[in-house]
Amino acid sequence: MNAYDVTIIGSGPGGYVAAIRCAQLGLKTALIEKYSTLGGTCLNVGCIPSKALLDSSEHYHNAVHNFEEHGIEVKSVKPNLAQMIQRKNQVVEQTCSGIQYLMDKNKVDVFNGTGSFVDANTILVKGSTDQTIQTKNVIIATGSKPNYFPGMEPDKKRIITSTEALSMREIPKKMLVIGGGVIGLELGSVYGRLGTQIEVVEFAPTILPTMDGALSKELTRSLKKEGFKFYMEHRVQKVENKGKSVILTALNKKNEEVQFEADYCLVAVGRKPFTEGLNLEAAGVAVNSRGQIEVNDHLQTAVPTIYAVGDVVRGAMLAHKAEEEGVYVAELIAGQKPHINYNLIPGVVYTWPEVAAVGKTEEELKAAGVNYKLGSFPIKALGRARASMDTTGLVKILSDAETDEILGVHMVAPRAADLIMEAVVAMEYRASAEDIARICHPHPTYSEAIKEAALDATANRALHV
Ligand code: FAD
Ligand code: NAD
Repeated sequence: MNAYDVTIIGSGPGGYVAAIRCAQLGLKTALIEKYSTLGGTCLNVGCIPSKALLDSSEHYHNAVHNFEEHGIEVKSVKPNLAQMIQRKNQVVEQTCSGIQYLMDKNKVDVFNGTGSFVDANTILVKGSTDQTIQTKNVIIATGSKPNYFPGMEPDKKRIITSTEALSMREIPKKMLVIGGGVIGLELGSVYGRLGTQIEVVEFAPTILPTMDGALSKELTRSLKKEGFKFYMEHRVQKVENKGKSVILTALNKKNEEVQFEADYCLVAVGRKPFTEGLNLEAAGVAVNSRGQIEVNDHLQTAVPTIYAVGDVVRGAMLAHKAEEEGVYVAELIAGQKPHINYNLIPGVVYTWPEVAAVGKTEEELKAAGVNYKLGSFPIKALGRARASMDTTGLVKILSDAETDEILGVHMVAPRAADLIMEAVVAMEYRASAEDIARICHPHPTYSEAIKEAALDATANRALHV
């Protein structure tokens, strides 16, 4: 029988990072994955393939819409979707095999098969041959799956989830997107840039409803310019595959029935935790009403030697959050005293311009009755933005009215995904808006917008507006 200090079920960013950290700390570690490749949702059907297609479609979009003004003449630009998908597949393959390399390097034993509890310290791996693992600790990192509601069940042909949208055989003429959240806007952008008419049908009054209102407004304006149509406050009743098209029926805010027709419908209404097949009852581990594995502040289940991390527990469903939790649990098992600052987990949406945020939104500060100052700066006022012809967006900084400590930073900006890290570092060190305002930022860069917004928050003294 195989005996381990730690057995991890699931090889997504939560699981494989936990495995590396456990091995670094000298723990004998096993990693179980039911799919043939490692890396979970993130590497196989999530972060990496979506960003590969976002980049390819962005190049195409620029070639069609922006090259001429930049003085580059190209004749007959046309998208080759099959090649885009093939390049995406290659990126995925290379990235997944990189994880296998890391497991070998760190001497983590990888078991291919479905892991399930026999009891709290025994795991059965059902694969090509069944194997049993004896283990002191278990980390459950089984992730999540696309969610849907009655009437919008994906048939994976015309009514699709993000997974099918990452491997389309044709560029849709028109695509309905249920849900104006992260997946809907990112994958909507991929096909919108390739010429698909994108129509977003959203339940809430704004897109990205959990982000700061200023970001939703700015991004809505920008995506409308790119041809997106938005139908807010629409309650989807049903979606039907009619062979060559789909018909979506919804109730609008006046409670009138409205119908939409398109060749595809992408269902992107969130994801749900995945625990099927784990046989959690045998170990005495419970899930809550949302299907999440119940954990305490130390990511420990009711059984002290069984932990859970990533999408399968409460909190943001983000790869970097899963990674932090994987490291946290590994260090905890090794006897260290790790810490995660959940307030400082940044969120990014990879549209163009990108959207990024960290800390509290203005709506959250208002609801909590916090006295705050607001500084903002438009991207169009930057020399860098005009030089690059990327002039849409803004940076918004919220700081405490009395102490000036930065409480939240929100931006729609070119390269916001990378820019947000200045705010994360500043907030980790509890910087004030004035601290950022007094730091020299290189010119010409998009980062100057952060300094200017900080100047505005500090004393309404932005320099370039
Ligand atoms: P997962 O990555 O879901 O991995 C779980 C793994 O467990 C899977 O490989 C599964 O096969 C395996 N498994 C499940 N049950 C068993 C079992 N019983 N036995 C063995 N193996 C099992 N997040 C970001 O931060 N940035 C992004 O840009 C981003 N883009 C995304 C784009 C899309 C289209 C999608 C769908 C998601 C995206 N996400 C993004 C979210 C991100 O992918 C998830 O938050 C992240 O993958 C969660 O990691 P995890 O380790 O918890 O689980
Ligand atoms: P989401 O929670 O981001 O958005 C879902 C949207 O669907 C919301 O706007 C919600 O109001 C809407 N909605 C819910 N029910 C609806 C209904 N019945 N009719 C119409 N609209 C409805 O979820 P998602 O976009 O599916 O993404 C799932 C998860 O994957 C997210 O938690 C996200 O964190 C993660 N993800 C992250 C990234 C990234 O970090 N860039 C990219 C993709 C996915």
